[in-house]
Amino acid sequence: MTKSPTCRHCGAPLTRTLVDLGLSPLANSYVGIEHRDIDCPRYPLHARVCDTCFLVQIEDAVPASEIFSTEYAYFSSYSDSWLAHCQAYVDEISTRLSLSADDLVIEIASNDGYLLQYFVARGIPVLGVEPSANVATVAQEKGVNTRVDFFSNALAETLVAEGVRPSLICSANVLAHVPDINDFVQGIATLLAGDVVYTVEFPHLLNLIEKVQFDTIYHEHYTYLSLVSVEAILDRFGLRVFDVQSLSTHGGSLRIFVCRKDATHKECASVAAMRKQEHLAGLDSPAGYQGFKEKVRAVRAGLVQFLNDAKEKGQTVAAYGAAAKGNTLLNYCGVGEDLIEFCVDRNPSKQNTLLPGSHIPVFPVEYLRQRRPDYILILPWNLRSEISSQLADLADSGTLFVTPVPKIDVFGR
Ligand SMILES: [Zn+2]
Repeated sequence: MTKSPTCRHCGAPLTRTLVDLGLSPLANSYVGIEHRDIDCPRYPLHARVCDTCFLVQIEDAVPASEIFSTEYAYFSSYSDSWLAHCQAYVDEISTRLSLSADDLVIEIASNDGYLLQYFVARGIPVLGVEPSANVATVAQEKGVNTRVDFFSNALAETLVAEGVRPSLICSANVLAHVPDINDFVQGIATLLAGDVVYTVEFPHLLNLIEKVQFDTIYHEHYTYLSLVSVEAILDRFGLRVFDVQSLSTHGGSLRIFVCRKDATHKECASVAAMRKQEHLAGLDSPAGYQGFKEKVRAVRAGLVQFLNDAKEKGQTVAAYGAAAKGNTLLNYCGVGEDLIEFCVDRNPSKQNTLLPGSHIPVFPVEYLRQRRPDYILILPWNLRSEISSQLADLADSGTLFVTPVPKIDVFGR
């Protein structure tokens, strides 16, 4: 008998399926061309919701050591709109908290220094915590002080013992990537003294549900967060949310501002407004999660139909952006090289590899201009405006763009 899974936060049995995406390879394990004929290992990708605390989560099917290997290909710094977003955050928070050369900003999962570099430029001391050594080296070369480690409560206690006293802790899109979310939040609580603020961004579950963004489900992404579920976790560790902002990044994210329960920050009206919005969408009751599977199946049917029609007409389809979400989509929909000839990506570490599972080859973006496909399927659909304007010259000569969710959308420039 298989053991029934339990909630990562509250331990309740998980009996409600949000969607079961079957077996899928790791979304960021790009394949060497020499391994073309070897199928990738595949692991269950099954999202469930906890009926007690409403945390949406996938099961632990893969050891973290396999996910965050040294070849981990993700470098944040490759999207222009993402960098602009980070710089705007740094400007806003530095003013709001009056940060100066006497302060310290800690970022958890600081990657290649894509965010902290803007604090450094303002003369504000920083400490990045980043588990991937090769990525941390890139940050150090940019002058971003970085410690190679996984963030945990044990590390937070070490930092406190070493006298590290941050004025601000931030993280963008890391909370959902943490297998032990309780230990992570406890670590934040350990570092938050007095009125110190923690800001964290995460893709908002409300958008995942309403816009059928099921392709944001992949093995590196353990939890899918709402204000209601995050507040339950923070509460257990003596923390609270005092402000929340809706962001357009990653198809719709929340940025929450967290402090100790006894801190002096007054709760902004935005918090009650977001709680109400989630309540109206049913995110605090099992009913809000019904019907999602059927919507996901409809996306698959729409994409496969579109690709088959194009093939029948002798039209070529290429994909843009070797993004993790694209790999979930292509593998769940069973799409391979027979339907999508090739993919392109700006990131050199992904070029001349094969997409995991589908084994579609990845080339530099310039390849699009040699091949001039009839359609370009934009896999990171959250960047559709940015990507379609970068490729406006192709649109001018007749190429059309396609995005897959919430349903197939074909458009020109
Ligand atoms: Zn739970």
